[in-house]
Amino acid sequence: MSLQENVALVTGGSRGIGRGICLELARQGAAVAVNYAGNEAAALETVEQCRALGVEAEAYCADVSDPEACAALVKAVKERFGRLDILVNNAGVSLDGLLLMAKVQDFDRTLETNLRGAYFCTKEASRVMLRQRYGRIVNISSVVGVRGNAGQTAYAASKAGLLGFTKAAAKELAAKGITVNAVAPGMIDTDMTRVLPEAVREGMLASIPAGRAGTAEEVAQAVAFFAAPEAAYITGQTLCVDGGMAV
Ligand code: NDP
Repeated sequence: MSLQENVALVTGGSRGIGRGICLELARQGAAVAVNYAGNEAAALETVEQCRALGVEAEAYCADVSDPEACAALVKAVKERFGRLDILVNNAGVSLDGLLLMAKVQDFDRTLETNLRGAYFCTKEASRVMLRQRYGRIVNISSVVGVRGNAGQTAYAASKAGLLGFTKAAAKELAAKGITVNAVAPGMIDTDMTRVLPEAVREGMLASIPAGRAGTAEEVAQAVAFFAAPEAAYITGQTLCVDGGMAV
C-alpha cells in the first residue's frame, strides 16, 4: 500500500502514539502536518524524522479544544500542501481520578480535548475532503472507551463518545468518498502511561493477554490500514490494538 501524493494531518503528532503515526504515514509516502499543543521541540523532532524519510512535513501549534484554532489549523495545512486526505484525531489527555474525588475542571478539559477536539477538526477537515470527494478520518479512541476502567470516568466517557461520533460521521460521509474509523489502543508505552503509579501499571499489564504493553508503531500500523485508499469500503469500524485486553 502507498500513500504517495496524500497529505495527512495528525493532531498531537509531537510525541508518543501521534509521532509513531506521523512516521508510519511518512514511511508510506504521505506529506505530514504535525499538530502539537505546546511542545515545539518535540514537534520539530517529529518533522525532522518525517523529512528524513523523504516526505514534506511541517509543525503546527494549535489547541484542538479551541474551534477557531482548529479552523485556522486546517486552513493553514490546506494552504501549505494544497489538499488534505488523511486526518488522524489523536491529541488527547488523561486526567484520572475516582468519580467522587475528580474535579469538574478535569472532566471538562478531558472532554474538550479528546472529544470536542476531534469534533472540531473533523468538521473543518471534512469541508476540504467533501470538495475533494475523498478522505480518510481515523479517531484514536481507547480500550477504556470500549470497556470502561475504574478511576477513568471522564476519559472513558470521552473515548466512548468518540466511538459514537465515529459511527455517526461515517454514515454522514460515506457517500462522499470519506471513511471514518476508530483505533482503540490498549496500554501503550508513552509519556501518558509512564506517569502511572507502578502498582497501577503492574495491574494493567497483568490484564493484557499478550503479557506486555504495546508500542506506538503497532498502533500506527492500524491507522495506516484505515488511511489507505484500498480501505475505501471500510467505515464506522473500531479496531482494538490491545494485545487482547478488550476480548
Ligand atoms: P502523550 O501524552 O504521549 O501525547 C499526547 C499528545 O497530544 C501530544 O502530542 C500533545 O502535544 C497532544 N495534545 C494534548 N493536548 C492537546 C491539545 N489540546 N491540542 C493539541 N494537541 C494536544 O499521549 P499518547 O501518545 O499516549 O496518546 C495519544 C492518544 O492515544 C491519546 O488520544 C490517548 O488518549 C490515546 N491512547 C493512549 C493510550 C496509551 O496507553 N498511551 C491507550 C489508548 C489510547 P504536546 O506534545 O504539545 O503536549
